[in-house]
Amino acid sequence: MSAATQRAGWSRLPLRAAAFVVLTCTTILGVSGWREWAARDAVLKGAETEMANVARSLTQHAEDSLDLLDSGVVGVVSRLEMDGAGPATIAKLRILLETRKKAIERIHSLAITDDQGNWLTLPGTIGSTLSDDAFFRYHQISPKREPHVGRPVKSLVDGEWVVTLSRRFNKPDGGFGGVVLATISSKYLSHFYEQFEIGRNSSVSLTHGDGMIIARNPSNETFVGRSVSDKPLFREPDLQRPKGAYHFKSPLDGAERVSFFNRSSRFPLLLLATVDKDELLAPWRAAAISRMLYVLALVMLIAVIGGVLVRQLQRGQRMAVALADKEAHFRLLAEGSSDMVTRIGLDERLRYVSPSSVRIVGWRPNQLIGTPALAGINPEDLPEVQAIVDAMKRGEKEEARLTYRNSHRQNGEIWLESTMRVTRKENGRIDGVVAISRDITEHKKLETRLETLAIEDSLTGLANRRRFDERLKEEWARAYRDRSSLGLLMIDVDHFKAYNDEYGHPAGDACLRRIAKIIAAEAHRAGDLAARYGGEEFAVLLPNTDAASCARVGERIRDAVHRAGLVHASSPISGRVSASLGGAACRPTFERTAGVAALVEAADRALYAAKDAGRDRLTMSGEVMTLLPKASGQ
Ligand code: GH3
Ligand code: MG
Ligand code: MG
Repeated sequence: MSAATQRAGWSRLPLRAAAFVVLTCTTILGVSGWREWAARDAVLKGAETEMANVARSLTQHAEDSLDLLDSGVVGVVSRLEMDGAGPATIAKLRILLETRKKAIERIHSLAITDDQGNWLTLPGTIGSTLSDDAFFRYHQISPKREPHVGRPVKSLVDGEWVVTLSRRFNKPDGGFGGVVLATISSKYLSHFYEQFEIGRNSSVSLTHGDGMIIARNPSNETFVGRSVSDKPLFREPDLQRPKGAYHFKSPLDGAERVSFFNRSSRFPLLLLATVDKDELLAPWRAAAISRMLYVLALVMLIAVIGGVLVRQLQRGQRMAVALADKEAHFRLLAEGSSDMVTRIGLDERLRYVSPSSVRIVGWRPNQLIGTPALAGINPEDLPEVQAIVDAMKRGEKEEARLTYRNSHRQNGEIWLESTMRVTRKENGRIDGVVAISRDITEHKKLETRLETLAIEDSLTGLANRRRFDERLKEEWARAYRDRSSLGLLMIDVDHFKAYNDEYGHPAGDACLRRIAKIIAAEAHRAGDLAARYGGEEFAVLLPNTDAASCARVGERIRDAVHRAGLVHASSPISGRVSASLGGAACRPTFERTAGVAALVEAADRALYAAKDAGRDRLTMSGEVMTLLPKASGQ
């Protein structure tokens, strides 16, 4: 995965987490809401079922009541048709009707009229005792012998609303003889309905088929006799079923109602049981609100916790991006640098190596990572580097700069200069060392060269005068400490001016180089130092050498120069280049007052003595202290 896509993936993560939190919250709310809605539906369905039961049993009750009335009416009709409507029969029937009315409570009245509408068992006419005589006019016209249930009428005698059930009876010739009437009181029915406790704002009503209210609970007095024939229940075609649920908004108080209607199959009656929707749903609503409050609290808790987590995720991501940036910068610096950048862990193994390692030590980073960091260091330099690394690991040193030799894969040994620095974790504990190393081999070579230049004579390659003076002092001090003897030879080429004159200066230089080689070859012991003292004069310092040994070396040099056979035609000595030597040796321990200068002076004097004695020879000074005026020569 590339860094860019990884970064893009990171930045989408909090967004996804936030979307997840929102989805969780909405799902919980949605599922809870849906469950509450289902519970509400169940309450409404339950109420419908209950209302259906009420409507069915009250319809049954109304039918039973009318059947009871009819059984009495049928009996009277058959007596009248058999015995005729004479005064004797009527008198008997009046007693029968009174007895029946008393025996059956729900019968409001039982009466007989003649074919003109005059009561035969009561005083007066229909018109003077009832508010409506529609039932009478029906029988007058219709030959039907079935019972007729009329719309409610008001009794003008006691002011009560009643339902009428009537049958016609015929005269012996088949003509209309009159009507037998039984009534049932609206009040009785409404009292009966009171037994059904179906709610405060609910009602039960019995309506005649033509839309007039027969009985109602509650408020029977207000509603009885009112026509509701203009209401949907009587008008809408799809409500003209035998029974069914019916939801409507009350035109009186605007409240929503749930109801069930049932039409009688035998009589023109319709029973409607109704409950108030608000009242019905009140318990559900209260429970649902408290449940939804819990759910809301839960959702808010999830939202808050989710929000906090998302913010933490965002912050963590910003930090990760910053860290990645930092690392990218570090890599850019490390990998763009010509120096080799390495990270060394506490186990002293390489954790990171920048690509410059190929140029600096000849190995690729992947070949080095995991290997011991100090493996390539020259064993002579290792202890010093190891000590510094150990001190850094212990926290005793924060930074160090050191130079050491290290092996290169192809180029043998190179010089490295490393700047090291302790690295720490966030908690401040040391977790390693960062080293920036550069190849300073060229620099070192130059340095060595300069050093050599400072101590070397450029013509002959021997030590120069400065170096000779330094070493003389050192060797004097050492000889003093060691109680040893220090020898010195001073050498001067004979008649060299003449040589130059004869062969030219460059040839003179070449001759000096030859002589220098000869001298260096003879002063071969470790610690011996051959130097160009100046012009055509040389000096040889011989530590740990007494006068006799010094003389032996001097004689070898003289002989070697002589035997080299360098032609010097004008030399009066032998026709060859020759040299004169003065030697001296002393033990500084026994010569506290004499110094370095005394030794040089003694050798110098011996040299002059050799010159004086005819050149191409060695003269030894005696021990300096004893030697001063006197020279022993050959
Ligand atoms: P002697 O020592 O035998 O007394 O005689 P000499 O000719 O060597 O005496 P002197 O010391 O006076 O002369 C030294 C000469 O050495 C002078 C100079 O021309 C020559 N000389 C000194 N240094 C160099 C040098 O570096 N190269 C050359 N070619 N000649 C040098
Ligand atoms: Mg000289
Ligand atoms: Mg000379």
